[in-house]
Amino acid sequence: MSILVVTDFSPAEWKTWWPSLQAALPDERLVIDRGAEAAGEIDVALVANPPPGELKDLPGLKLIQSLWAGVDKLLADPTVPEAVPLARMVDPAMSQAMAETALWAVLSLHRDFYAYATLQQQGRWQQGGQLRADEVKVAVLGLGEMGAAVAQRLAANGYSVIGWSRHGRAVGGVTTLAGAATLPQVLATADVVVNLLPLTPATRHLFNAERFGEMKRGASFVNLGRGAQVIENDLLKALETDHLRHAVLDVFQTEPLPTGHSFWRHPCVTVLPHVAAQTDPRSAAQVVAANVRALRAGAPLAHLVDRQRGY
Ligand code: NAP
Repeated sequence: MSILVVTDFSPAEWKTWWPSLQAALPDERLVIDRGAEAAGEIDVALVANPPPGELKDLPGLKLIQSLWAGVDKLLADPTVPEAVPLARMVDPAMSQAMAETALWAVLSLHRDFYAYATLQQQGRWQQGGQLRADEVKVAVLGLGEMGAAVAQRLAANGYSVIGWSRHGRAVGGVTTLAGAATLPQVLATADVVVNLLPLTPATRHLFNAERFGEMKRGASFVNLGRGAQVIENDLLKALETDHLRHAVLDVFQTEPLPTGHSFWRHPCVTVLPHVAAQTDPRSAAQVVAANVRALRAGAPLAHLVDRQRGY
């Protein structure tokens, strides 16, 4: 049997992914051209933004393994076969990278480091006040692989963390609340709101004028989840009316963020080019290999996506 690798990787990305996959799967036949293989021979597809149609008509397919953590694009593609188990990337190295990004954003907001960077550009020496970390309330929305790691890292750094998810989940050192009814309460108490929800029908456009209005005046918003969860004009309005203080954005409605978009030069917006937590081919290839081995051994597959709930 063969493993089809379908991605939109650049040549530079291939240079690290291909040797990592080959090293992790030394006994497997990896192919990148499905046309060169009998369709029935392909039983695993490793995918990263596969073009629509690439996974159609593969009668032997038993596992679709995403190389990315978010699977919203795969679930939105009607040509991805629904009956085939779909696993997403869950790699502790990625969760730790996400925790680093969230800590940088929260710490920079807490200690006004973004504002000091602006003052430097203006050649202005202006000292502000200083709060203790425990005086800063941070809401982490989504307590999955990423959110739980972020909430724990922030709590370990002394922040007062409240975590929010659908069903509630115990995370050490973190107060947690669950369900849509508690979201206004969570938003109203936080100085910084960090979004780490997956993109689903329930979270698309979740952050609109109403949600931003529920946030505390002077709070900041950090989006590390998905761009389509935010109505960008509503966020701009909340910043321009000084209801919100600052936004740190890693993900956008359209990526790359279009030239000329207001976020690029907005004094209250910090832009990252979707790099909060990149998949590391070295550790991710090991995660892939473990799932391929489980498939071959008839053991349970890890990190399967529940297509009904959308994550
Ligand atoms: P995950 O393990 O599937 O966790 C999702 C969390 O969100 C769970 O706690 C879940 O609640 C909660 N949730 C889902 N829908 C909800 C709703 N309607 N209301 C309240 N809570 C809800 O996902 P993950 O691995 O942590 O990743 C989260 C997202 O991060 C990804 O989907 C992706 O969009 C984003 N991401 C971004 C980057 C980047 O570089 N920017 C990198 C990787 C991932 P339950 O626990 O109750 O089910």
